[in-house]
Amino acid sequence: MLRQVAEGVLVHESEFVQSNAVVVQGRAGVLLIDPGVTGSEIDCLANDLRELGQPVVAGFSTHPHWDHLLWHTRLGEAPRYGTARCAATVRDRLSDAGAKARVAAHLLETEIAGQVPLDLLGLITGLPAETAQIPWDGPGVRIIEHQAHAPGHAALLIGERGVLVAGDMLSDVLIPMLDLDGTADPIEDYLAALRLLEGVAGGVDVVVPGHGSVGGSDQVQARIEQDRAYVLALRNGQVPADPRVGSSAKPGWEWVSDVHEGQLQRLAQRSERDGTPR
Ligand SMILES: [Zn+2]
Repeated sequence: MLRQVAEGVLVHESEFVQSNAVVVQGRAGVLLIDPGVTGSEIDCLANDLRELGQPVVAGFSTHPHWDHLLWHTRLGEAPRYGTARCAATVRDRLSDAGAKARVAAHLLETEIAGQVPLDLLGLITGLPAETAQIPWDGPGVRIIEHQAHAPGHAALLIGERGVLVAGDMLSDVLIPMLDLDGTADPIEDYLAALRLLEGVAGGVDVVVPGHGSVGGSDQVQARIEQDRAYVLALRNGQVPADPRVGSSAKPGWEWVSDVHEGQLQRLAQRSERDGTPR
């Protein structure tokens, strides 16, 4: 079911880790950001769009993780975009014949095993580096690229509508998940991304995280600060006073504490390996 969060901006929430697909109405159809997860949900979204008489005219993936790279034939053949760095990462990771099988194997450990259409996984076109806006016939959608969480991650600012699509940041349920495989300084990359988001937060009335609840204007700065406090605590090896971790986690989200522990361990290993302070 599509829910309007601002004029011409609708959200379809998946049962799987509360994933949010975002629909932006344009002049001749919609822009679809991170379409969703299971086949039946994407099907439902396609039905909703058909009822609205709105074909998909463009797609966008916020970052190169499988749950943001899906598509379904019923959504049509619109161009699908990501940042150049996102697209290059996807190409690289999906280049070998076993890549989709690995995603499918990972899914076997989840409650949605066998329910995710992988045929059209990751078929995105990279927009040239420094592209400021998504090329499409609708309200301007500004690309805010950074290196937190995943290479070439983009937050999207729909300025006219006061909406910030945050990708996998600014969630009320998921802690900041650092890209601990790629970058030289994942902590600083995350803090830099939060500064970029803070720079546009003033005009934002609605924040849509990749996973979790849509937040109102009071949530934008609060979530930036909450994410920053978490990342700083992680850097300093402190126990974060964070409602998303430990006994205050929402029911069903207890596993986030394991993610936190894993990040602590991996950061400690990195600093040991590199001989650097955290
Ligand atoms: Zn992600």
